Amino acid sequence: MNKKIVKKNKTTKPKYKILFVSSELHPFAKTGGLGDVCNSLPKALKALHQDIKILIPAYPFAIQKAENIKQVATIDLPGEGFPGKLGLPVDNDKAHHVNILETKLPGSHVKVWMVESELYNRPGTPYFDDKNKEWEDNDFRFALLNYIAVEIAMGRTSLQWQADIVHSNDWQTGLISVLLEKEYIRKKTTRPATVFTIHNMAHMGVYSRERFDTLELLPTLWNHHELEFHDDFSFIKGGLVFSDRVNTVSPTYAQEIQHEEFGYGLSDLLAYRNERLSGILNGIDMKEWNPAKDPMIKKNYSIKTINNKPSNKTALQKHFKLPQKKNTLLLGLVARLVYQKGIDLLLENMEDILKLPVQIVILGSGDLELESRLHRWSSKHPEQLQLQIGYDEQLSHLIEAGSDAFLMPSRFEPCGLNQLYSLRYGTIPIVRKTGGLADTVVHASKENLSNRSATGVVFQETEGSTILDAVNLTCLLYQNKDAWKKLMINGMKQEFSWKESAKQYLELYTQAIEDRNKYKIHSSL
Ligand code: ADP
Repeated sequence: MNKKIVKKNKTTKPKYKILFVSSELHPFAKTGGLGDVCNSLPKALKALHQDIKILIPAYPFAIQKAENIKQVATIDLPGEGFPGKLGLPVDNDKAHHVNILETKLPGSHVKVWMVESELYNRPGTPYFDDKNKEWEDNDFRFALLNYIAVEIAMGRTSLQWQADIVHSNDWQTGLISVLLEKEYIRKKTTRPATVFTIHNMAHMGVYSRERFDTLELLPTLWNHHELEFHDDFSFIKGGLVFSDRVNTVSPTYAQEIQHEEFGYGLSDLLAYRNERLSGILNGIDMKEWNPAKDPMIKKNYSIKTINNKPSNKTALQKHFKLPQKKNTLLLGLVARLVYQKGIDLLLENMEDILKLPVQIVILGSGDLELESRLHRWSSKHPEQLQLQIGYDEQLSHLIEAGSDAFLMPSRFEPCGLNQLYSLRYGTIPIVRKTGGLADTVVHASKENLSNRSATGVVFQETEGSTILDAVNLTCLLYQNKDAWKKLMINGMKQEFSWKESAKQYLELYTQAIEDRNKYKIHSSL
């Protein structure tokens, strides 16, 4: 018999070269969920065999955390005199250049490129100085990141790498699609396809006409269909108008931002681009947030060893010097303490909530007035409410493990990560029905409890006492230990790994390439 080896006809997945650009990347630089997503998604894409490189600014605190960091390229800045305009020192004889440093994302083979410049070499956070004041030149600082991204993506550097896709994240990267479209129209060169992800519409990068001129953006872009935004201009608008595809981090938020209440003045534009706008739910890092192995909690547990969870409650009560009551519902909250997170809704109902048999622990920082109002309640009821101002990764893990329920009364929430961590840790999320919270938590109604789909407590209104009613309901549910345990286990069984989301991003990249080839973006360029 003729032994013919028949090769299986494997369907080959696309393999793209992706430049993933962000102002935050955990563990190098993180102020919120953006940093987490920019860590996890590239790793998940790498696991799907994509050639992905991440580009971030080389903040000093990022360099400090990077292992085996080395310089791999220098890139000349565009345009004579341009660096001086950005506030960079110019040596008239030489073109100004920035260095590209290379390291790896810890625990992975994903390469990270960092842009080294005087503009980033400052203490503080990516956006604020050490007195919590926004850097006055954030437009210049992030415009630089955008210009460098374009040079790399177009393959014009000694890195000898050219992108098929540029994936930009939030306003700090909003000009990349504009600059790439300019390459395409003006120089008649092909350009990478562009994807822009909105992690939060509330931050829009709005700056004046004077700054627009300094950035040498084409004057024709100053019109309200393109970059102009109420007599100023907006970075995020650039990303929304000029990217081949736009997405947000949950399907519900993708719908919400097309309405005035959530669209920050750009809802009409988003509704207009509706066919190119979608929502892909964030996943979580299943290794970092795993109660069975988490080294940052007191005692590890899983569904099988769920009886170990209360040791974490005791440790958490101890940390916050709260009475160690085993049967009092302990509520946790970890967040930026700002209006978005609904902290004011909680404060308005605090008096009545503290009349219930609950303890509350809060970790976060943000709005000074909200912080001091929380402090006042804490000093009035120290045996029930404790507060730690600041950022503490380790404590945030213990709060997830040690709390019985987790509060997220957000006014809006593009995706939200803590409710996903809570579900994994068997901690019942109490959430407002908005954005990603609506997409990921199923309310403990009678029907949902009996068909075992319930995973948390969901309330709708921002007005009145609905948050109080939600906490009240949680107290009632907590009294029935069996039902509570079922609710915990339902949550722990939910699957929020990055793998599925990464596959959806791959599809989005394919659509972006098709769109780039099919349509011309109507522009004044
Ligand atoms: P956002 O990005 O709007 O701040 P997310 O829920 O998407 O909200 O992500 C917030 C992330 O930041 C979570 O990982 C959360 O645990 C973390 N975080 C927020 N504040 C603190 C804090 N004070 N200490 C530790 N982690 C925090």
